[in-house]
Amino acid sequence: MRRIILPISVLLLALALPCSAAEKLIALTFDDGPRPYVLYGVNQPGTGLLDVLAHEDVKATFFVMGWRLTPKTWGEKRYETNIGVSCLIAARDVLRRGHEIENHTYSHADLRIAEAKKGRAWVLADVERGAKIVETVTGSKPQYLRPPDWDLPDGARRELEKRGYRVLSISSQNPPALRDLNSLDYLCAGKAAGCPKPSLAQSVLKAIEQREKKGLTTHVLVFHELTTTTAQLPELIAGLKGKGYRFVTVSDYMKQVQ
Ligand SMILES: [Zn+2]
Repeated sequence: MRRIILPISVLLLALALPCSAAEKLIALTFDDGPRPYVLYGVNQPGTGLLDVLAHEDVKATFFVMGWRLTPKTWGEKRYETNIGVSCLIAARDVLRRGHEIENHTYSHADLRIAEAKKGRAWVLADVERGAKIVETVTGSKPQYLRPPDWDLPDGARRELEKRGYRVLSISSQNPPALRDLNSLDYLCAGKAAGCPKPSLAQSVLKAIEQREKKGLTTHVLVFHELTTTTAQLPELIAGLKGKGYRFVTVSDYMKQVQ
């Protein structure tokens, strides 16, 4: 009889799980890195993105560009600061701290334009190349892909899904809980214009309030590795914690939300 009792209790537990879907969850994600000068800060120790996340005890997911994970690469000379830490060393540290690393392609090319110019095989190879180099850091093939600017022709998407990738998207064809919420943080960096008002943190909190009004309590938030974003995070995280949100990595989020 014991053998029967155990599976039933497991079944009951499984039936109870959908209730936990009402839990308030945030998957905080950062694209376009690893950027050591953002992760560790440039001049003021303790102000880097990894410091902020550690201080808030928040685990996040980093969608990285594969080309950065080559030995000695520290970033883009024109826009970034060399703090003497390579992207590869930073990626290993990101992982050691309990964050997750996923695939944002190798080249960061716009895949729709790339397919028109170079063909689908090139697009698929760029994604696979990104996945392979992430795997050299994490030890396992990344499951999730966020295409640059969410731009991916449908045929290539279907092929990648057949190969086991889960493609993150802002498409309204996806259920809202599984759809990326674009923070627009890139409009607050450098010479970009159009940063949400009154601040990035407040505008994201407002967007979440709007989603809550529709009954949504789980959100995948998309940010980039930017110093301007890092500066807004303490306020944003405090606001979300105040609303009862818990922060999880993308793979934990997907396990709990679907
Ligand atoms: Zn990107």
